[in-house]
Amino acid sequence: MCKVIGEVYSALRRQFRGDLLRPGDDEYDGARGIWNGMVARKPGLIARCADVTDVQIAVRAAAAAGVVTAIRCGGHSLAGFSTCDDGLVIDLFRMRALRVDAQTRRARFEGGCLLGNIDASTQKAGLAFPAGVVSHTGAAGLVLGGGTGWLNRLHGLSCDNVTGFTLVVSDGSVIRASAEENPDLFWALRGGGGNFGVVTEFEVNLHPVSSVLFGAGMCFGDDIPAIVQQWREFMPQAPDNLRWGISLTIAPHTENVPAHLRGRTAASQGLVWIGDPEKGRSVMDRVLSFCNPVAVTKSELSFLALQTMADAEFPHGRRYYTKSGYFKVLDDQNIRHMVEALATIPSPVSQIELSYLGGAAARVPAGETAFGDRSSPFIVNLLGNWADPGDDDANIAWIRGLFAQLRPSMTPGVYVNFMSGDEQERVPEAYRERWDRLVGIKTHYDPDNFFRLNQNVRPQKSSRS
Ligand SMILES: Cc1cc2nc3c(=O)[nH]c(=O)nc-3n(C[C@H](O)[C@H](O)[C@H](O)COP(=O)(O)OP(=O)(O)OC[C@H]3O[C@@H](n4cnc5c(N)ncnc54)[C@H](O)[C@@H]3O)c2cc1C
Repeated sequence: MCKVIGEVYSALRRQFRGDLLRPGDDEYDGARGIWNGMVARKPGLIARCADVTDVQIAVRAAAAAGVVTAIRCGGHSLAGFSTCDDGLVIDLFRMRALRVDAQTRRARFEGGCLLGNIDASTQKAGLAFPAGVVSHTGAAGLVLGGGTGWLNRLHGLSCDNVTGFTLVVSDGSVIRASAEENPDLFWALRGGGGNFGVVTEFEVNLHPVSSVLFGAGMCFGDDIPAIVQQWREFMPQAPDNLRWGISLTIAPHTENVPAHLRGRTAASQGLVWIGDPEKGRSVMDRVLSFCNPVAVTKSELSFLALQTMADAEFPHGRRYYTKSGYFKVLDDQNIRHMVEALATIPSPVSQIELSYLGGAAARVPAGETAFGDRSSPFIVNLLGNWADPGDDDANIAWIRGLFAQLRPSMTPGVYVNFMSGDEQERVPEAYRERWDRLVGIKTHYDPDNFFRLNQNVRPQKSSRS
């Protein structure tokens, strides 16, 4: 153990109530891994905090020793920011308490909750918090970056539904941020990521949702570009109740796909309707009649079933790499680039994810939160997903190659939670006209850039990067 991390350990050992895990400890290896298997680092110390006081002690000790520190909720940072080599990980794994007030439709949850923890509690009252689509994702990282998912078109981004944050800032003090208290920080925390402190509690609004209509279908051959064009034309007029996304990928070898189409390139559609089922059925029937889809399914699902449906597609420990961006206009040439790239996709479970924001999320004024661009509705996420380290180069090169083709037509901007770890130069681009204000708030709350393992907003005059 190096000397400085040894100092942190000694400082914590006297007062820490949670678990302190060092290399060689029984639980260390299980605790060190994060979701993205590409990121295999070895922290000098993992501090699994039991409560807010533990977080304060850990921040103070690490700041005093000048130890590089990662903050972890669910460990799903695509970029791998929730771990580090040799430094400290402040892990909120044990801080998953949650309270739901069904009458006021509000909840408070601790900074270590996963989306599945929140859904399980809120659904008991028939309520839902708008968040992501995979239940093992951490809520803190997702909400702080913005948070997109099935409910966004109807109820806004996750961060639009937060009314208050409690956090430990870089000097170890606990402060609250809301519309009334520290409003600048409240603004920054809604989209600005983990730059400002360790959030120990979120206060959020909930919405009544307990079941949804779900539809799926796949298009092949010439119907692949055709369905993307249909989607492009349809979504700008679609009701907010509908979320329709398309993944360009390889058809799986599953029973519902006709045998001769398995393993072929496909446009896989997923549709969710929230609201009046009769209207929903007619909208879904219409959408699922476009471009000859096969393997069509339509069903009514519980919200919990919807929220866990994609869990198995993104298992822990595989290798993942992403590049993402926005389009204001998705023209035919870019659709062609994507469809052509699909022919050489190196992994059958990688995908080009196309989603359309719009709706309530897009109606929030641009300056109201720090979240990046809400005005470019088409979001493209190139998501590489493979198992063998020997395939790293081919998969990363494929993503970078396609991204380079699409990039000139993209609107400047990117969703920070879909960025990989090699894109630091794009962080100002992600925030655009909000950047200077973010830098000012960062400089005020974290002048030494203690919280720097993130899509980093560097404070003025900090030498740490
Ligand atoms: C399988 C999968 C599915 C996803 N689906 C969606 C989706 O549907 N919608 C969407 O918007 N995004 C989605 N994402 C992206 C997701 O929002 C980010 O990966 C996010 O960082 C995950 O949060 P986490 O808490 O698990 O991250 P972690 O890896 O634990 O943390 C990432 C960063 O968040 C910050 N952080 C974490 N906890 C705290 C805290 N308590 N206080 C302060 N800062 C903190 C830190 O900067 C940390 O480096 C998905 C990611 C994966 C891997």
